[in-house]
Amino acid sequence: MAKTIALIAHDNMKPTIVEWCVKNREVLARHFLCGTGTTAARISEAANLPVHAYLSGPLGGDQQIGARVANGEIDIIIFFSDPLTAMPHDPDVKALLRIAQVYDIPIANNKATADCIIKSLEG
Ligand code: PGA
Repeated sequence: MAKTIALIAHDNMKPTIVEWCVKNREVLARHFLCGTGTTAARISEAANLPVHAYLSGPLGGDQQIGARVANGEIDIIIFFSDPLTAMPHDPDVKALLRIAQVYDIPIANNKATADCIIKSLEG
């Protein structure tokens, strides 16, 4: 059954998420994809996948995705956050992690975890 997958990456991690999406294009194409503004645009362009774009993260995109989690509308989050750079929207990042934990949504913060999640969708 098709899942709704949210894709988010901080600037330094965008090449990583784009590469990961290109590599896993075949599986991702079977699901509904959404993401924060710039991440969604990069993935759409590079992987030729339809990705519904919310606002850019610093402008509220993480909060929009968090609201969808609270509504029970997101099944999986792939969130390649940057562990080495301070973010102006750090409270929003924390809020998204918290709400994903509250609703028991799988959330991958790195490629190794994202690989485990995508494997579970294969077949
Ligand atoms: P962006 O937002 O995809 O619009 O860059 C991601 C973020 O910084 O949270």
